[in-house]
Amino acid sequence: LDHSLQQQHTLQSVSELAAGMAHHLRNPLTTVKGFTQMLVTSPHLAENADFIEIMLKEIESIAFITDELAILAKPHLMNMKPLSVDLLFQEVLANITYTHSDTVVTLEAPDDLSPFICGDYHQIRLLFHHLIKNALEAMENGGELKISLECTETEDVKIIIHDEGSGMNEEVLQRIGEPFYTTKDNGTGLGLLLCKRIIQHHHGTFSLLSELNKGTIVTMTLPRIHQQAASSCL
Ligand code: ADP
Ligand code: MG
Repeated sequence: LDHSLQQQHTLQSVSELAAGMAHHLRNPLTTVKGFTQMLVTSPHLAENADFIEIMLKEIESIAFITDELAILAKPHLMNMKPLSVDLLFQEVLANITYTHSDTVVTLEAPDDLSPFICGDYHQIRLLFHHLIKNALEAMENGGELKISLECTETEDVKIIIHDEGSGMNEEVLQRIGEPFYTTKDNGTGLGLLLCKRIIQHHHGTFSLLSELNKGTIVTMTLPRIHQQAASSCL
């Protein structure tokens, strides 16, 4: 009985996952298909530059979601390297589009030593990207986003991401991390699921504290390494 029940659960989550994927891939594919058909009948590139730009964006979003699904599907394909946590944050912050002009982002790191971790560059980048993006999207009216890094006595890097955004109510808090659960019109609902998986892959911890209309504090720890100890990543 247990086994068949579990099988039923598995089947259900497979079909949920498939439905979500189909949904998120169909929209951009439809756009790309439509514009491609237009280009076939009217192949004058100069007039169609705008359409081509839209097509590229849609193709990028298909590629992005495909990469994310690949991380969920094949967690063992990791390329571990020493990574500087604050450099990586700076890199991710430089590539984020700020939606509100009254947003201030601060990154506080211990200035005597820059914490290093052993991680997969693409996964850790994606982790920081999603957490920063969620924080900024929650701050519709701007506010301060504080990122702070600490080196703990237990040889971890503690990363705290504190936003002054909308916060989450009980229902949202219960459901975050469910595949495709989103409260946003253009959200994929894969962000936090992915974050949790990536942290698991890196033997870290994750916790979240949120107060409605006040903001959210995400706290993570990741095992720290010494800068030169690239060999400890092998
Ligand atoms: P998405 O961002 O695509 O909606 P996520 O998995 O990243 O998917 O987040 C799921 C939901 O959790 C969001 O839709 C939002 O309601 C909530 N959420 C996540 N992070 C925050 C945050 N920092 N502040 C407020 N709500 C958040
Ligand atoms: Mg998100």
